[in-house]
Amino acid sequence: MNVMTAVRAASDTTTVEHFDVLIVGAGISGIGSAYQLTKQLPDRSFVILESQDGFGGTWLTHRYPGIRSDSDLHTFGYSFKPWVGPPIATSDEIKSYMGDVIAENDLARHIRYKHRIERASWSSETNLWTIEGVRTDSGEPVTFTANFLWMCQGYYRHSEGYTPDWKDVDKFKGRIVHPQLWPEDIDLKDKTVVVIGSGATAATLIPSIADTCAHVTMLQRSPTYFRIGRNAIELAETLRQLQVKEEWVHEIVRRKILFEQDAFTKRCLAEPEQVKKELIGQISAILGPDYDVATHFTPSYRPWRQRIAFVPDADLFLGIKSGKASVVTDEIDRFTENGILLKSGQELAADIIVTATGFNLSMLGDIALSVDGKPLDFADTVTYRGMMFTGVPNMAWVFGYFRASWTLRTDLVADFVCRLLTHMKTKGVNKVVPQLRAEDHNMPLLSWIDPDNFNPGYMMRNMHLLPKRGDKPEWQHSQDYWTEKDEFPNIDLDDAAFVYG
Ligand SMILES: Cc1cc2nc3c(=O)[nH]c(=O)nc-3n(C[C@H](O)[C@H](O)[C@H](O)COP(=O)(O)OP(=O)(O)OC[C@H]3O[C@@H](n4cnc5c(N)ncnc54)[C@H](O)[C@@H]3O)c2cc1C
Repeated sequence: MNVMTAVRAASDTTTVEHFDVLIVGAGISGIGSAYQLTKQLPDRSFVILESQDGFGGTWLTHRYPGIRSDSDLHTFGYSFKPWVGPPIATSDEIKSYMGDVIAENDLARHIRYKHRIERASWSSETNLWTIEGVRTDSGEPVTFTANFLWMCQGYYRHSEGYTPDWKDVDKFKGRIVHPQLWPEDIDLKDKTVVVIGSGATAATLIPSIADTCAHVTMLQRSPTYFRIGRNAIELAETLRQLQVKEEWVHEIVRRKILFEQDAFTKRCLAEPEQVKKELIGQISAILGPDYDVATHFTPSYRPWRQRIAFVPDADLFLGIKSGKASVVTDEIDRFTENGILLKSGQELAADIIVTATGFNLSMLGDIALSVDGKPLDFADTVTYRGMMFTGVPNMAWVFGYFRASWTLRTDLVADFVCRLLTHMKTKGVNKVVPQLRAEDHNMPLLSWIDPDNFNPGYMMRNMHLLPKRGDKPEWQHSQDYWTEKDEFPNIDLDDAAFVYG
């Protein structure tokens, strides 16, 4: 049901549009969820609200040179839409793929760009969410009501990246740039550049600017794991030579990648030292025996505790080998006029400093949520399988995988939400809210993620803001695609964890 009503508030008249489902965000999750909704529940009305002026989310926000995926697009792409290019894709390729999905499925008419949501309030009287926001172009307030809120807002604040509080930053005379807000006017030609960071962003940016700059240094506090491989999948090439249909190629290659990732994850847990040796061995083989791999590319943590960035065609390491790029492993003491003074006493000169230092976690898109007038503190809730929350009615939340492609979970959550909405209709109810069952009341409540298992900085800095996790599968985001793909379709919707009304 899509209804437009004029609701007279105390002092003004605001037009309120109603939809069955309101999706927050037109990133890869929002578009994938909308696709599933149109296919599985074509009778439901829905709208996607997106604060930016286009679709793509992460792939629209990040515009730094070389921006690309670090997972393969057979699994980062949707199950329903074959990926026909090389597995590691540029942001333009990802946006073009998403654009095709939008066009082929007539989704554009459901998306409202430049609509930033600021508040969402649930009322148990009406069993509706009221969503209030603002049009970013005109400043005009907008209000919607929806039966179900589908949070596809990603996990970080798009308007700014995370920059640590370094000493004397203001003394630096050059330019400081965060990759999340890459300026269009920046000229790197013949400049000395220092990139602070060692993650996927640094690893992507450095090889793509190395030829332009006078020199680029990757300054890292501690090393990260990388995997090196060809940006091609042999099996896909063979299947294409055999003129197998792209739908089949996509499905077969997807299965192969998932099978291999599963095996790799298990190996990381079963024989971390061996995996570590292999990963570092790949780098040594390129950089040669004289390169200090022990200092620069030997992490202290077990493989897979943080996402392992894939380096296609070893471009980062070839840049280092050529001398155009180098790595310094040290800590920042403070910024100086000319660059960065390190704790070791070395000063790194720079014209431009790029802070590839990560994200500001924003689990709910900076939306102030409330339930029956009470502000929602996410940290007071317990997660239902990382997609719903105790005490929060009619809301699903997409938080993907760290160790596998994010989008694999978007599909699983979408199937679950569509099944749940169908179940509610069959039961003739308007509300579903997860709650701990009698047997869960003495369950230990743990932090959202086990830091021993996975511990990237942006999660660790914000753990206190995140929902709690229990010690049973129902109350955890397991981060295990291979279990969830079998469990999610069999979730008993009449389990006491779901309270309907
Ligand atoms: C540079 C980079 C590379 C990455 N590469 C990979 C990869 O290769 N593989 C992988 O699995 N993961 C990768 N990730 C993680 C990546 O963010 C996710 O996989 C995926 O893109 C997230 O998609 P999403 O749609 O859930 O969220 P996002 O891409 O974050 O999109 C969320 C959208 O919601 C909108 N939004 C948020 N709040 C509001 C609000 N209040 N009102 C209106 N709109 C709102 C945002 O503007 C945004 O467009 C990468 C992340 C980064 C930053």
